[in-house]
Amino acid sequence: MVAPKLQEQIEELAALVRSSCYLVAFSGAGISTESGIPDFRGPQGVWTRMRPIELQEFLQDPAARREYWRRKIESWPQMRDAQPNAGHRALARLFEAGYLKTMITQNIDGLHQKAGICEEKVIELHGSNAYIACLQCGRRVEWETILPFFREHPEPSVDCPRCAECGGWLKPATISFGQAMPEEQTRAAFIEAGKADLLLTVGTSLQVHPAAGIPGETLGHGGKLAIINNQQTGLDGQAHFLLRGSAGVILTEIAERVTGSSL
Ligand code: NAD
Repeated sequence: MVAPKLQEQIEELAALVRSSCYLVAFSGAGISTESGIPDFRGPQGVWTRMRPIELQEFLQDPAARREYWRRKIESWPQMRDAQPNAGHRALARLFEAGYLKTMITQNIDGLHQKAGICEEKVIELHGSNAYIACLQCGRRVEWETILPFFREHPEPSVDCPRCAECGGWLKPATISFGQAMPEEQTRAAFIEAGKADLLLTVGTSLQVHPAAGIPGETLGHGGKLAIINNQQTGLDGQAHFLLRGSAGVILTEIAERVTGSSL
């Protein structure tokens, strides 16, 4: 049951989505918590439990490198097997119906693509956890190629695997703190946000830069900003619409009103 004030906001936002010319959505970890993947800064966030390992530590300290891989291997089956939830499905519905033009995400879980938004229309700002990449030459390596190494060498004294081509360190293809953002994707995200007459941000605390600068591109070009999140965000004061609650519930209600069909 959606509270009356929220219901009113949903009606208003759905009308704006319907009349929008260039709708862009921007998601963060919060959209995937309903698929069982914890976020970083929410109440059950990963960082309330452990500190992130930065790129420099990964490169310089064998113990940090081993710990980084341990965490990644521990969470890999959950991310590999996760399924899109109502929020991902609602955005995919808006995409199929021609309203959503581009999906920008900070997420590394691939759930927008799994929900049906085509690969070329999803901009992954922080990389992808779906595969491993060499930090030096960028060569792609599959998880199944790497996992046996760790199964055969559980001893913490054994260092992590290197690229068979150039000897660089292998790491899941996600962007760590201290690691440069992918240039092409970052540029594309800012361009798309600038074109948007309406930007829907969903499940992001809007605290991580440069990603948190994306709504400013929309606002700077005269577009409107809608924030859907269950807690306060860094940009609440600048939003035209502020919808507090579950991303899955709110996005479903919006997509149903916009498309006229139930999800
Ligand atoms: P964040 O953890 O900083 O913020 C998530 C926000 O979503 C919080 O404000 C939280 O209260 C809210 N939230 C949680 N569940 C929600 C729900 N069901 N409905 C509505 N709101 C909900 O995440 P961020 O802003 O994306 O930034 C952190 C970084 O974490 C990103 O760089 C991202 O790459 C990475 N990350 C990704 C995943 C993933 O791929 N699923 C998971 C964890 C972290």
